[in-house]
Amino acid sequence: MIIAKSQKDLERMREVGELVAEVREELRRMIQVGITSLELNNAAEKMIRERGAIPTFIGYRGFPFAICASVNEQVVHGFSNSIPLKEGDIISIDVAATYNGFVGDTAFTAPVGKISEDLELLLKVTEECLYLGIQQCYPNKHIGDIGYAIQTHAEKHGFSVVRDYVGHGIGRRMHEDPQVPNYGRPGTREKLRVGYCLAIEPMLNMGTHEVEVLEDGWTVVTKDRKPSAHFEHTVAITAEGPEILTLTKEQKAQRKSVVGLT
Ligand code: MG
Repeated sequence: MIIAKSQKDLERMREVGELVAEVREELRRMIQVGITSLELNNAAEKMIRERGAIPTFIGYRGFPFAICASVNEQVVHGFSNSIPLKEGDIISIDVAATYNGFVGDTAFTAPVGKISEDLELLLKVTEECLYLGIQQCYPNKHIGDIGYAIQTHAEKHGFSVVRDYVGHGIGRRMHEDPQVPNYGRPGTREKLRVGYCLAIEPMLNMGTHEVEVLEDGWTVVTKDRKPSAHFEHTVAITAEGPEILTLTKEQKAQRKSVVGLT
């Protein structure tokens, strides 16, 4: 069952969205050669708790960290560790927080120092896919329209889209209905309605779309060990179109409107 949010619920979704966006931007600023994912994780947990919120991932089905930190061929759900990041790595960080009973979920992939042109393109196209997916979030469009927009753009650039992990509805729980695949056909699956909140999260691989889970039971890696990127926003469907909830105050101020992509 898909839960449409009330205006009051949406206010709470905005609050937690902004909160987790601020954490995301702080983490982005910290990424540099030599820092470890454990340092990023600890900083994220501290920032979330200082804001009176709860790191949603900790204890989620037994997940032990506040962030998912996935380096290079790791797709999602990577464990934080004490290995310093190296020049030329990419790191995907996924972070979620619960505040006043609602969840915000966001992710990005960042370069560590100077990265190859191939990787630069992978990151750029994955982020573009996120915004192309968001651009489909109007009432009466379908979940399949989001996946189609993402898949088409990814494959045009020679990248593949992960099938085994998908975006999701979000609200009082991190994972609500519906599933939001990053592939699909226009006009298929559920119809979007005002008040739906979705976590849209394209995961693009440089090689095969196939993935596998490491022995830790969590870390998802590409089957061919080629790199992967991941960007995510929590988005509300309003009568006027998509409202990205996981933006900082500063990012909102820079936009002409919080609805749509201008
Ligand atoms: Mg998510």
